[in-house]
Amino acid sequence: MCGIIGVSGTNHVGLDVYEGLHAVQHRGKDGGGLVSFSDGVFNGPFMRDGIIAEAFTEGEIRGLDGAIALGHVRYATQGGRNKLDAARDAQPLLFKHTRNGAIAVAHNGDIRTAPQLRTDYLAIGGFFQGTSDTEVILHNFAKATNDSLDSLLTQTLEPIQEGAYSLVMIVDGKLVGARDVNGFRPLVLGKKEGGYMLASETVALKRARASYIREVEPGEIIVVEDSGPRSIRPFGVRSEGKQKKCVFEYAYFARPDGLLFNTNVAAVRREFGEILARKFPNLSTDMVGAVPDSGNDATIGYCHASGKPFEIVFSRDHFAGRTFIDPDGEKRAAKVRAKLSPYEGLEGKVVTLVDDSLVRSTTSRELVKMLKEVGVQGVNMLIAFWPFAYHCKYGIDTADDGELASHSMNPEEIRKYIGADFLGFLDQAEVLSAMKKVGGLEGFCTACSDGEYPVS
Ligand code: AMP
Repeated sequence: MCGIIGVSGTNHVGLDVYEGLHAVQHRGKDGGGLVSFSDGVFNGPFMRDGIIAEAFTEGEIRGLDGAIALGHVRYATQGGRNKLDAARDAQPLLFKHTRNGAIAVAHNGDIRTAPQLRTDYLAIGGFFQGTSDTEVILHNFAKATNDSLDSLLTQTLEPIQEGAYSLVMIVDGKLVGARDVNGFRPLVLGKKEGGYMLASETVALKRARASYIREVEPGEIIVVEDSGPRSIRPFGVRSEGKQKKCVFEYAYFARPDGLLFNTNVAAVRREFGEILARKFPNLSTDMVGAVPDSGNDATIGYCHASGKPFEIVFSRDHFAGRTFIDPDGEKRAAKVRAKLSPYEGLEGKVVTLVDDSLVRSTTSRELVKMLKEVGVQGVNMLIAFWPFAYHCKYGIDTADDGELASHSMNPEEIRKYIGADFLGFLDQAEVLSAMKKVGGLEGFCTACSDGEYPVS
């Protein structure tokens, strides 16, 4: 998963991108990058490992001013995962000299056709710097025949239609934003000081003090001209019901204090919790606790609807840092323990915990163990999402199918495995009903629930 920002025409484009990147940091912590552009000259890109707050100095950011700037935070999915790959594959990517001029790109998503396009380009003498799927976009651009900007953009994006992309680009000295026709990943448009800002989430607009205009629609390309944003839709408009927006953005990924697909994220999560309360009305418990922070809103919804008492059960350590325990499985469990610690005074109680999702089941298993270790009498685990049974091909970094608890176990088997006294999930219809109720939304990808991949 990644976060992207593009700004043009504000008083300090570099600073606005930098501010925006902080607000989408949760979308990628492997690395970050920035590039700016003015009067035909690029400054950067500057790519760094790690988180934005520690990666760049104030002087570097102030030096990035100009007419347009792009930024990116990266969570490696398609490309490599080791430190070297993360640095090499950091974005924005820039080709300064092609027969169609320069192009800079920052991308969020997974381009399904990238491996084939890469093979095809290599066969005709193309070359690649890293392992990121985004590089094929630059090659598409370089190969296009340049009769007009709109045609150039169409030719650049046409070969990657079968995939998930939200993009910010600098092409022809203009800021450009684009979203694939399925609308897997989010992208929004805002404005500030006579200029415009594109961002993965509305929280980035808030942080940069830009005001929200609207989301970039699936299949839309926005070109920010001097006169303002202009739209083209060369790949047609997909009716809402046929779109494939990502549900997991609502369940876990997007920040709760923003809008996603024009709908309040926290309100959807609370509705997930309310549905859990209606679905399991007879659970007896002494208290209900959230798995912080991702389970907070669903827990509030559950408590509102059930009337059961909310308590803080776990304290989250924001400075937990790294754990030096191997192998991978034990390391994950140790990380859960390092991050979350149970409150005192829980002995003999029955505790209901609400979390946003169960993926490998490490978190739930470890939390149940920790509660039982401190003498909790019973633990009910409620998951405010459907069983995550198939890996994501569209940009969410999840385990392979074999590591997903719900791929090989039914809920009762998982309950036994995690040691809970009760385990409840939402089903597909219930999850989809929440977005319908809160935002009137339809048209979601359900692949992580049923393996029905809309784009192979
Ligand atoms: P697991 O421990 O593998 O069952 O994962 C579930 C927990 O990890 C939940 O508490 C989620 O908040 C969190 N989570 C879910 N998906 C992801 C992801 N793609 N990256 C990091 N954390 C995640």
